[in-house]
Amino acid sequence: MHKLAILNLLRARASMTKPELALATELTFATISNLLSELEEQGLVQETGTTRSSGGRKAVQYQINPTAGYFLGIDIRAHEVLLSVVNLAGKLVRTHREPLEMDTSPEMVLPTLRKVVEEKLVSDDIPRERIWAIGVSTPGPVDVERGIVTHPHNLPRWRNVPIRELFEREFGVPVYVEKDTNAAAFGESRFGAGTSAASLIYVIVDTDIGGGVILNRKIYRGFLYGAGAIGHMPVALDGPRCNCGNVGCLDTVASGSALQRKVADAYGENLTLDALTEKSRTQFFEEFANAGKWLGTVVGGLCNVLNPEMIVLGGPVVEESAVYYDAASTAIRRHMHPEFANRTQIRVAKLGRFSAAIGAANIALQDHVYGEGM
Ligand SMILES: [Zn+2]
Repeated sequence: MHKLAILNLLRARASMTKPELALATELTFATISNLLSELEEQGLVQETGTTRSSGGRKAVQYQINPTAGYFLGIDIRAHEVLLSVVNLAGKLVRTHREPLEMDTSPEMVLPTLRKVVEEKLVSDDIPRERIWAIGVSTPGPVDVERGIVTHPHNLPRWRNVPIRELFEREFGVPVYVEKDTNAAAFGESRFGAGTSAASLIYVIVDTDIGGGVILNRKIYRGFLYGAGAIGHMPVALDGPRCNCGNVGCLDTVASGSALQRKVADAYGENLTLDALTEKSRTQFFEEFANAGKWLGTVVGGLCNVLNPEMIVLGGPVVEESAVYYDAASTAIRRHMHPEFANRTQIRVAKLGRFSAAIGAANIALQDHVYGEGM
């Protein structure tokens, strides 16, 4: 426990001296010395120069040995896999995107995936044996405790797949499984737009709308791991049926596919989401402004429930359409309690398509080293 406390402090402050560590942990100088020697022997901590202490004597500074261990993040999507590696100090060292048809049987695709990892990520500076753990991000729902993806709607052949078991067998290291939107929210909170916030609501607007809630720097998963599904907040009681089976979800009025459907119905134009978004300032201004307003209305309402420090909006629709983003942020502020409306930050996500892969690698680091019970 004390060693973890030291590692946690070193991770947060980059480097510290023995007196500083003793002060922060309330342990004796002798205990700190012993623990640091053990951590050095284990290769987890190293000296990093000296600093002058207040008495004029030199004090050695210690830091986490960043190259002692690496953590791999794997984000599984229908037609591609996104990979990232972070080191023991939590620094992002590599990302890679590989087009790969994932919706075949997992037993078939896993050996290919392992080859990709070994050829594209493992290298002299990231040796295979130093990859300590893997975080896997998949479309939900995910039973995090058992490491099983239950019925992802865009990966029908991954139903009830024991991901943790299969990946551990293939890669030979501990594996942690997370719902993709939670992984993305965690990535943004640790590396992206949300690093300064202890609590945030993350929303991604793609063909579907997804979300994740970070409370006290941890993912809030809910009772059956279903939290964050903001796309299924009801907004239209007599609205269209949603792919979740309910009626009038936010997804049916504010998602990318809802916009596509609306434009197809109104103008007879079947456009890709990219093509549609490109015209959001001109031809489809009204549709995008309206969809963004719906999203912001729901998010603003959620702010009154959770009172987060920050809202992070991501995904191609938000990132490519200023109209959608502006309409959403205006509505968020309008529906938030006036007391908080101007003190809650609204930001655009920073990590783009890699947010979930980076989040998954960080979940592996957190869970494996610090056992934070992600
Ligand atoms: Zn729904």
